[in-house]
Amino acid sequence: MGAKRKICLTGPMRIKLAEEMLRAVGCELVLGKPQDDFRNFRYERKELVNLIGDCPIVYPSGRDVVSAEILDSCPDLQAVVKSSIGIETVDVDAATDLGILCCNSPTVENYMGVAEATMGLIVALFKRLKLNETVVRNGGWKELHNRGTLMLGKTVGIIGVGRIGQNVAKRLGSWGIKVLGYDPYIKPETVAPLGVKMVSLEELLQQSDLVTVHVVLTRETRGMLGMREFKMMKPTAFIVNTSRGQALKEAELVQALNEKIIAGAALDVFEQEPLPMENPLRQVDPLRLILTPHNIGANPGSAEAGQKMAAESMLAILDGKIPDTVVNPLAIPRWKERFST
Ligand code: NAD
Repeated sequence: MGAKRKICLTGPMRIKLAEEMLRAVGCELVLGKPQDDFRNFRYERKELVNLIGDCPIVYPSGRDVVSAEILDSCPDLQAVVKSSIGIETVDVDAATDLGILCCNSPTVENYMGVAEATMGLIVALFKRLKLNETVVRNGGWKELHNRGTLMLGKTVGIIGVGRIGQNVAKRLGSWGIKVLGYDPYIKPETVAPLGVKMVSLEELLQQSDLVTVHVVLTRETRGMLGMREFKMMKPTAFIVNTSRGQALKEAELVQALNEKIIAGAALDVFEQEPLPMENPLRQVDPLRLILTPHNIGANPGSAEAGQKMAAESMLAILDGKIPDTVVNPLAIPRWKERFST
């Protein structure tokens, strides 16, 4: 089996690695808008369908939503390949029904970068780093009431104990922190060697001094934490989210922070990105909320590694092979049926 070596790259790439790798092996590339035209641009459904045309593979930018209608309107489309871990902008269920493969790119540079960054946010919250830094800048000095918390012996709850969650758990364990986990798809015995005790979501929320969220975004995890859950947490507890903004009900988090239902938070991801100027998160006491622009886990090499893995997945599919980055293996039989020559 082999397909036309034609690939649609919908967004401009500041790093051209994938483009170069694909051109080097003779792929024809259909390119979307260049960087300067792309800033505040979003493709309409029809425009995206026209751009994809007869390409067997589309490599969508982070902001392009690949809906069921788009997938259905592209009869030659065999695969949607992303250079990121999160793939929620693609209607994976519809792709599965249509026999279209969906691939992500879980590189070590990406997931370890996020795990390391999460540790940084956890330490910053427990140690009240932002508060104490501000005190010094404002001419103040050490005050008893600004002291941080001893992390040794504290409890951290990890919601979503996958690649990133497990790497956070490993690091926390070595600091003498008790780690609880909640993830209905991970067997307790898989993470027991990392020192993670799997519990119910309620137990995790009630017992943790800090909750860190590492779920993949699905119908189930969208909005899984709101006021009801924040009220189950200790008033001294913190929350960290480096997964996807939509996992938390953002307006309810703002309320929980303003009303001191929880002590503080650190967010790298938001319901709407870039974070709009008028977003109420910007008005929350900055000493209790750390905001980073969805790049806390990025490092020199992480974007390149994602593009390289994505390009390798695309080339494998063009050669009729199934890469191990496929996130919807249930699509494979139909894919074979539709596209075997
Ligand atoms: P992963 O797929 O390895 O882990 C996700 C875990 O979520 C899985 O173990 C899964 O079983 C679990 N899960 C699914 N439904 C759940 C539910 N209802 N309740 C609890 N757990 C549930 O993914 P990963 O590589 O660890 O990535 C985790 C998240 O981090 C993803 O959302 C990804 O998009 C995001 N991410 C963010 C950045 C960033 O720059 N901030 C970078 C990379 C990844």
